[in-house]
Amino acid sequence: MRIAMIGSGYVGLVSGACFADFGHDVVCVDTDIAKVEALRQGEIPIYEPGLSSIVTVNAAAGRLVFTTDLTAAVSQAEIVFIAVGTPSRRGDGHADLSFVYAAARDVAEALDGFTVVVTKSTVPVGTGDEVERIMRGANPEADFAVVSNPEFLREGSAIEDFRRPDRIVVGTGDQRARTLMAQVYRPLYLNEAPIMFTSRRSAELTKYAANAFLAMKIAFINEMADLCERAGANVQDVARGMGLDKRIGPKFLNAGPGYGGSCFPKDTVALVKTGQDHDVPLRLVETTVAVNDHRKRSMSRKVIAAMGGDVRGKTIAVLGLTFKPNTDDLREAPSLAIIQALEDAGARIRTFDPKGMDAARELLPGVTFCEDAYDAATGASGVVIVTEWNAFRSLDLPRLKVLMATPVLVDLRNIYRRKEVEAEGFHYESVGTLAPG
Ligand code: NAD
Repeated sequence: MRIAMIGSGYVGLVSGACFADFGHDVVCVDTDIAKVEALRQGEIPIYEPGLSSIVTVNAAAGRLVFTTDLTAAVSQAEIVFIAVGTPSRRGDGHADLSFVYAAARDVAEALDGFTVVVTKSTVPVGTGDEVERIMRGANPEADFAVVSNPEFLREGSAIEDFRRPDRIVVGTGDQRARTLMAQVYRPLYLNEAPIMFTSRRSAELTKYAANAFLAMKIAFINEMADLCERAGANVQDVARGMGLDKRIGPKFLNAGPGYGGSCFPKDTVALVKTGQDHDVPLRLVETTVAVNDHRKRSMSRKVIAAMGGDVRGKTIAVLGLTFKPNTDDLREAPSLAIIQALEDAGARIRTFDPKGMDAARELLPGVTFCEDAYDAATGASGVVIVTEWNAFRSLDLPRLKVLMATPVLVDLRNIYRRKEVEAEGFHYESVGTLAPG
């Protein structure tokens, strides 16, 4: 099939490359000339494990091309996916749909023959109706169907998630669109991925409901972690005991510094706004947002307490900047709020992240960027693990201790065992567990 992918970011590039890998002919479009030029040279503008080789193989085979020419790409396509960004709108937190609407207008003007236009971007319930209206206005003669097909992949495991999704959700009432959507995803049936057809509005809302639910699960276990600390329980045991219940499941029950990333923060806020617009207060989601906002900064208080209550003039090593491991994405990362709060308290920050430092340099002007964890820890009065990269999971603790001014390890991801760290002479703080006694 011939596919045009509008927007070649995390979602568009991964989806485009994977569709090409299925054997479809894919044209990835982006307005960012530098990005398209880089992709044409075989450079991948984001860090996503496994993506580079899929792009290289399929580009070499001629099934995957990159362009800024939306008109040519769309006029030859049977299916057009819109995968542009939908960030938070400045000021009110609604999803900013200006990129989606601009793309819809351009797509409408370029259509040639019946085309399925799919919003893969995360968009509020009812957006498909507006996209259809805009397209009809831009090109009244065009023959098209607007479909919702939200994307559920996760950065860091995006290729695997795309190839083996838990489900594919397709929202449409159009039979021709349904047939084409079934065809484009047919290769995934081999992996037995269930494809679920529903109304466009239900599909749009499913994405927000799923993200809000997962965010709520994280906020919930983080509150339990606080209670565990006060009440002398261990949140990892509590989470394990909860997660073994099949109705609950073990995922998204890791206590930590709060969720971040390009999706949960903006999608939860946008869902709250949608609820308000429909006069249906979504109190659980509102509270989730508030709990998480509060949590990020409260983690800095934990660090300060671990370092004796005052960090003015002290050096702190922050390990991990990205919102999770295996990505270079810093959007809404807890590290940013934690570092800001520690700087506000007078600390000097040294940091290392395996993939996030290039993007971080602009965002964190006062911070010293280091070669590795040991370089970051040199002269530090405390080391804080913010992102659980594999590189931080088995640090040489005796070596770290020698380099540090005082041996304090604050493990905001609970990746160390208290006994082992304390045995090396460190003061150790984690999330939701306390030293026995
Ligand atoms: P991104 O910012 O990485 O990429 C968006 C791309 O679209 C950019 O390269 C931008 O230059 C391009 N663009 C903007 N307007 C354009 C236009 N008119 N024509 C062509 N290109 C245009 O964003 P992303 O992380 O890939 O997210 C895209 C959408 O997918 C968002 O709605 C997001 O919520 C959703 N989503 C993201 C993830 C994720 O993990 N990143 C997962 C699921 C869903």
